[in-house]
Amino acid sequence: MKRMVEKLSAKYLDAPPVEDDAPVQALLQRAEELAGRYLGGRGIPGRISWVTNQNSRWASATPAHRSIRLSHRLQGMPEWVTDYVILHEMAHLIEPSHNAVFWSLLASYPHTGTAKAFLDGAAFASQRNLPSEKDGQ
Ligand SMILES: [Zn+2]
Repeated sequence: MKRMVEKLSAKYLDAPPVEDDAPVQALLQRAEELAGRYLGGRGIPGRISWVTNQNSRWASATPAHRSIRLSHRLQGMPEWVTDYVILHEMAHLIEPSHNAVFWSLLASYPHTGTAKAFLDGAAFASQRNLPSEKDGQ
């Protein structure tokens, strides 16, 4: 499974997501649903994809391109954690900095605090077990 995802991600890094992009479509659908539920329909990315070259962050957003990249290391985490990361990055498409406006966008998602704690714990564990992997947000 992991190998397949890596192959797919590598493919999408090289080429624009045109044909046979079921995983990308599923992510986009999930993002749209989350945006509708928690962000008043705002922050929907033009492109959202899994990447394997994102080892120092869980995810990143590029507001200029309305694109979101999620680290493959999130795969297998509880859904409420990955949903939080997607919401976090979508909020960055609305507000780039971590200011009060930004956090108010995430206030309606009920798992923001626990998801942050979960990711901090995962980063801590990963730093202990795999010293080559650094983390932070
Ligand atoms: Zn952020």
